[in-house]
Amino acid sequence: MTEQIHLAILGSTGSIGTQALEVVRAHRTEFQIDLLTAHSNADLLIQQALEFNPNTVVIADVAKLQLVKDALLPAGIKVFGGNQSIEQLVQMESIDTVLTAIVGYAGLASTLSAIRAGKQIALANKETLVVAGKLVTDLAREKGVNIYPVDSEHSAIFQCLTGEFQNPIEKIYLTASGGPFRGKTRDALATVTKQQALKHPNWSMGAKVTIDSATLMNKGLEVIEAKWLFHLKPAQIEVVVHPQSIVHSLVQFNDGSIKAQLGLPDMKLPIQYALTYPRRLTTTFKRFNFADYPSLTFEQPDRATFRCLDLAYEAMDKGGNMACILNAANEVAVEAFLNDRIKFLSIAALIEKCMQTLTFINAPSYEDYVNTDQETRKFAQTLVPTI
Ligand code: NAD
Ligand code: MG
Repeated sequence: MTEQIHLAILGSTGSIGTQALEVVRAHRTEFQIDLLTAHSNADLLIQQALEFNPNTVVIADVAKLQLVKDALLPAGIKVFGGNQSIEQLVQMESIDTVLTAIVGYAGLASTLSAIRAGKQIALANKETLVVAGKLVTDLAREKGVNIYPVDSEHSAIFQCLTGEFQNPIEKIYLTASGGPFRGKTRDALATVTKQQALKHPNWSMGAKVTIDSATLMNKGLEVIEAKWLFHLKPAQIEVVVHPQSIVHSLVQFNDGSIKAQLGLPDMKLPIQYALTYPRRLTTTFKRFNFADYPSLTFEQPDRATFRCLDLAYEAMDKGGNMACILNAANEVAVEAFLNDRIKFLSIAALIEKCMQTLTFINAPSYEDYVNTDQETRKFAQTLVPTI
């Protein structure tokens, strides 16, 4: 038997975090949980800790700290509060692999901290690579850290590349379901509600990534994520809409051959593969059946209607801190949309305005990213009431 993998799960109470714990539950002898962290869902964090017996938990929301301490200290589990504690504890000696399942820019500091300590990364938090892809991948290279993708499309590419690492990639195709509004016109999108946007046809995910899927910003963020993960040029990354979400993405090699990875949509598979690569563990996940899918279809994304995709390509082409601006503006816009403060089409408008207004920095430092994120959020908030 191979040695147990010692895991930290950052964001254990979210959609990815809870599915990761399902993977662990199904393979208890393979994994040891050392650290669980959550933002504010104390009840679920306590329940998870009592089941998986980690060495330590962190609750970012310090208002909940005493509640978590009262529940877990008697069980011999250490409890800390605040985001700084996540950054510190992710460096714990015993941890092998850190699953970054925090949503948004909030995941950047702890991911960098884990890489600095030489931990292997199972990366769900795509915003980290969008905001500071160069900084993160340079540091990972320097520290000899591998970043294993959890995002299903990037896991698909990674699985296609196994055994091919010496062979040049001509291009990759990232598949997109098209989200709940595929086929709708701009006029129709003007009046869509958050309830409609939150109904994803194929995947059940956290609210932020679900709205990103409806605007196609999720695919835009994934294009940028792919650039950094696989060292690609923008022209090598293409998006194709595939409404059935069975083909998870494809790689085209220099001889014209295309490899694809297929399966029913289930995030537990890419999560598990990122944790156990290069091994594949036996699972009981529902198997794909060709009879259920007599046709798999592919079409071009409607980029004129879903403008967020082009905004992401633009930010990627520009480089520097532009994708950091895009990401911060998007986080503010999505939250405002979820709070019924802006309309669906205003999400792209708000992001574009931020990209036109904020100061561009060609070769940003970490501090520049922090400032860009803050400045963009401040400016984006001023746009919310009128856009
Ligand atoms: P989620 O909202 O369901 O969960 C987010 C987790 O992060 C929660 O545990 C929450 O407590 C924690 N968190 C949130 N803000 C925090 C903060 N400021 N400080 C500390 N912890 C905080 O999100 P999710 O859907 O699980 O997505 C997580 C990441 O994975 C995102 O980057 C998303 O894009 C990516 N992803 C998700 C899916 C999916 O199927 N859900 C698929 C691909 C990629
Ligand atoms: Mg994805």
